[in-house]
Amino acid sequence: MNEDLSFRTSICSDYETLLKECQRAMNAWKQRREEIARIGLHGKQAGDELQKLQAKYARAYNRLERHTKSCAVCRFTTELGRSEETGAIWNSNR
Ligand SMILES: [Zn+2]
Repeated sequence: MNEDLSFRTSICSDYETLLKECQRAMNAWKQRREEIARIGLHGKQAGDELQKLQAKYARAYNRLERHTKSCAVCRFTTELGRSEETGAIWNSNR
């Protein structure tokens, strides 16, 4: 779905949890946005609702980012993510 967010899953369980939260928040926001567009809802109420969902997604994303910067496992995998042979290096180091 979102390549940028999912390329280093299944290594850090905290990261996975935060990632799922982030994706859930993003989907909720997107779905509501489409729904509102489809039924042609306008005005302050619809705008406020979308803004709240977007803020929720932004918060989830920030938590995810903060985690990757403070977590040793995630920092390590981020470094590896820059390499082409991520899987090979990760496996050979075990
Ligand atoms: Zn982590």
